[in-house]
Amino acid sequence: MIIKGSELPEGGRIEADVAIVGGGPAGITLALELADSGLQVLLMEGGGGRTSPRADSFTGEVADGTRHPPLTLYRHRGLGGASALWGGRCVPFAPVDFEVRPHIPWSGWPIGATEFAPWYARAGAWCESGPSRFRVAEALGPDAPPAVTGLTDPDIESDGLERFSRPTHFGRRYRRMLAAAPRLRVVVGAMCVGVDTMASGRAVEALRFAVRPGHLFTVRARAYVLAAGGLETTRLLLASGIGGEWVGRFYMCHLEGKAAWARFRPGTSVIFAYERDGGGVYLRRHFALSPDAQRRLRTTNVILRIEPPAIADPSHVNPVLSALWLSRTFLKPEYARKLASFGYRGALPVGASALVLRHLANVTGNLPELARFSADWLLRHTLARRKLPYVATAATNGAFSLDYNAEQVPNPESRVTLTDKRDVFGVPRLHVNWQVTPQDTESIVAAHRALASALARSGTGRLEFDEDAIRGGYNAIGGHHIGTARMADDPSAGVVDRDCRVFTVENLWLAGSAVFPTSSHANPTLTIVALAARLAAHLAAQLGGHGQTGRADTLPQAAE
Ligand SMILES: Cc1cc2nc3c(=O)[nH]c(=O)nc-3n(C[C@H](O)[C@H](O)[C@H](O)COP(=O)(O)OP(=O)(O)OC[C@H]3O[C@@H](n4cnc5c(N)ncnc54)[C@H](O)[C@@H]3O)c2cc1C
Repeated sequence: MIIKGSELPEGGRIEADVAIVGGGPAGITLALELADSGLQVLLMEGGGGRTSPRADSFTGEVADGTRHPPLTLYRHRGLGGASALWGGRCVPFAPVDFEVRPHIPWSGWPIGATEFAPWYARAGAWCESGPSRFRVAEALGPDAPPAVTGLTDPDIESDGLERFSRPTHFGRRYRRMLAAAPRLRVVVGAMCVGVDTMASGRAVEALRFAVRPGHLFTVRARAYVLAAGGLETTRLLLASGIGGEWVGRFYMCHLEGKAAWARFRPGTSVIFAYERDGGGVYLRRHFALSPDAQRRLRTTNVILRIEPPAIADPSHVNPVLSALWLSRTFLKPEYARKLASFGYRGALPVGASALVLRHLANVTGNLPELARFSADWLLRHTLARRKLPYVATAATNGAFSLDYNAEQVPNPESRVTLTDKRDVFGVPRLHVNWQVTPQDTESIVAAHRALASALARSGTGRLEFDEDAIRGGYNAIGGHHIGTARMADDPSAGVVDRDCRVFTVENLWLAGSAVFPTSSHANPTLTIVALAARLAAHLAAQLGGHGQTGRADTLPQAAE
């Protein structure tokens, strides 16, 4: 059943076994995994009501907005959460990401990769990204060609794959399942504005919700789960004075940027385009720093990926990229921002109108190529149920442009705090003081050096890159908010335990990337969903339900 918050009586009270705050991928997965457990479940989503205030009336401000985008740009208020916007890239954490790495302060998860594996399989079903096959041979068969013929090197793994969701909008895709589940009630348009604890502070007594200022009601449950996104979950904890000294600290994003060109030996076969597995799922290759190299070079986990060159720079002479740049004002702002970047070669010495003319020249200079691409994009992206994720372009002037995605070192000084400004419901807004350490950027430099050496040693090519551009040219990937309520073995090092329960509160759990103790380079959603499925099994066992539902098993397995 899906109900609008505005239909609930003012001052009323709803009860359930489990109350979940937030209907993004984490909350929806948790609710549906619990749907056949015999427990009464309540999923409370702030967006989606007719009177829901706009997202930008919430959350807060960023201390330095030059590299970290505004918080509202990358969030969506409504059933499905930010899966309404996501790119669908699904990547699991590598075993090394869960380990204690002596060169990475605060590293190590209380749970390991082996324990996590079954939950990744389940997450793949919810995300519709196919089976957990993230190596070329597993996904494409033993005879699949390597990413670069002749490139074998102990420091660089080039057989890793990223899998892509359709991309699945969790709100749309699972709406019917949510509405039909007998013991599940979903309330949209109701913002959680407070977590009230008992006098002891050791248990939640009730959650307070607001439909609009003045229209309030409460929710009582045996178990409460905050799944409101990487920052909103933490805002609720801070505003309610719950969770202890580490809440808000260790804020991490992934670092991204473009700082390299690779030239391969003539005749070398290079796979840069999207491929598909037997189930039709799109796949992408990348170059990763091997775990041994990470330990030896004392780096975080970094990958490099062949991507189109800086789109704003018309010297790529590519009609498709120029058409994309010219149409940037029609794109979602989170994607348009990337198109504005000139990459590491810096801004071009031309004025705005000259730039437009050069892009127009690229377009008109190769209209047949643009027409071919447009027809292909219409069929394989716009009209397709499983969408071609992005544009992949061949070499420009014989060179391929590379992007990096990198992990950050957990840093207690990188943190979010409350301000004295409040949102429309009186909840304090956040101040985000995102910090980057020299180890973060030097890790990216080291990864470029390692790939350059690997290409040189194997005689397969040459990597040209600019170290200063790496140190000064990174950005935060805007939609990945990680680490502000970290998981740990004990309260001296974190906010939640290995089951995602807040150490200091016996009936409060968290779901989402706030609990990640480290971030890997991997996009977070597959891991968020895996953790949510794992939490469902834990709660079902704790509360006397009959195990989890298995609903993920009944989903169509990504076959087209
Ligand atoms: C442009 C973009 C591209 C992305 N691409 C990728 C990608 O390729 N791969 C990947 O892995 N990830 C990607 N992400 C990140 C991905 O979208 C998030 O990791 C994922 O949506 C997080 O899920 P969540 O359920 O934890 O939080 P959210 O999706 O943020 O959902 C939280 C929900 O809680 C609700 N809520 C918040 N506060 C309250 C409250 N107080 N009361 C009630 N409800 C509340 C919100 O309205 C929202 O619906 C991308 C994000 C963006 C924005």
